[in-house]
Amino acid sequence: MSEIKTIGVLTSGGDAPGMNAAIRAVARTAAYHGITCLGIRRGYNGLINGDVVELNARSVNGIISKGGTMLFTARCPEFMTPEGIKKGADTCKYLGIDGIVTIGGDGTFRGARDLAASGVHTIGVPATIDNDISSTEYSIGFDTACNTALDAIDKLRDTMQSHERCSVVEVMGHNAGHLALHVAIACGAQAVLVPEKPFDFQRDVVEKIRAGRINKRSHFIIIQAEGVGNSVDITNRIIEETGIDTRLTILGHIQRGGSPTARDRVMASRFGEYAVHTLMAGKTNRVVCARDNDICDIDINEALEMKKDLPENMYMTSKIMSI
Ligand code: ATP
Repeated sequence: MSEIKTIGVLTSGGDAPGMNAAIRAVARTAAYHGITCLGIRRGYNGLINGDVVELNARSVNGIISKGGTMLFTARCPEFMTPEGIKKGADTCKYLGIDGIVTIGGDGTFRGARDLAASGVHTIGVPATIDNDISSTEYSIGFDTACNTALDAIDKLRDTMQSHERCSVVEVMGHNAGHLALHVAIACGAQAVLVPEKPFDFQRDVVEKIRAGRINKRSHFIIIQAEGVGNSVDITNRIIEETGIDTRLTILGHIQRGGSPTARDRVMASRFGEYAVHTLMAGKTNRVVCARDNDICDIDINEALEMKKDLPENMYMTSKIMSI
C-alpha cells in the first residue's frame, strides 16, 4: 500500500440513488485508514474552483438512506478542455489531493482519464440509473430506479384495469433499454420497445393488443424506453389502430430520486470501499466494475472502449411472459 494522505470524492453527470451511500463509503474507508477525505462539490466544477468540504466519518452520518447527492452534481463543459483539466490538477496540487474517486457515468470517467493523464491518481465508480456503462454489470441507482418505476406502474395498472384501457409508459434509460426491459418483465408488460431491438409496430404492438382483446385481456401495459422516440406518436398510433382508450405516462425524473434500495446501498458501500483501497494500492486511471458477483477494477481506456448489449435471454423472457 502506498502512502496516501488525502483523497477527494466527487459526483458528476446525472444523479442516481445511492450516490450518497458511495460518498459515505469513501469517507468512512478513508477515515478507517487515517486518510483525509475532501468532498468536491458540483462535479468537476468544484475541482476547478476549489469548492471542497472536509468529510470525516461523522459528517456522512444519516446519508445512506437519502437519494440525490450531498455533494451536488453538475455537468462541467470547461473540464472538457485542456485548460479546465490543468485547473483541476492545479487544485489537487494546491490542496494536497493524492487521488480522486469520481462517481458517475462514462462522461465522468472520461474526465477521470484526462485528470489521470495530468498526474492525479483517479478511480471511477459507476453510478447511473441507465445501467448502460459497458465495463460493469451493475451501476449504482439502477435497482432503485427499477423499483420506483414498478411502484408507479403497479398503481397505473389498477386504474387501467378498472377502465379497460391501454397504458404506454415511457421510462428513462438515455439511449439504452436496460431499465425498460427490467421494468417490463417485472410489471408484466404486454410489449417493450427498446432502442437496441428493431421492432415491427404492427406485429409487436398492434397485433398483440388485438389478440389480447380476443383472449379477454382487460388492459394493456406497453413499456417504451425514452431512447426509442416520440411516445406521444406511439400512443396515438395505438389509439388509431386498435380503437382502445390509451393513456401515456412519462415517468421522467421521479426515477432518479428516492431512498436507495438495499441493493444500491450495499453495492455503493462495496464500490466506495473498493475504490479507496485501489487508490491506496497505488493504482490510477481505473474504474470499479461488478462482474460475476464480485468486484474488480480495470483500465479506464479499456472500459470506455467496451460495448454493452441488452441481454438476449432477458429480451426472450419478456417476449415469452407477454403472450
Ligand atoms: P450520465 O450520462 O449518467 O448522466 P455521465 O458521467 O456520463 O453520467 P456526462 O454529462 O457525460 O455524464 O459527463 C459528466 C461530466 O464529465 C461532464 O460535464 C464533464 O465535466 C466531464 N466529461 C465528460 N466528457 C469528458 C471528456 N471527454 N473529457 C473531460 N471531461 C469530460
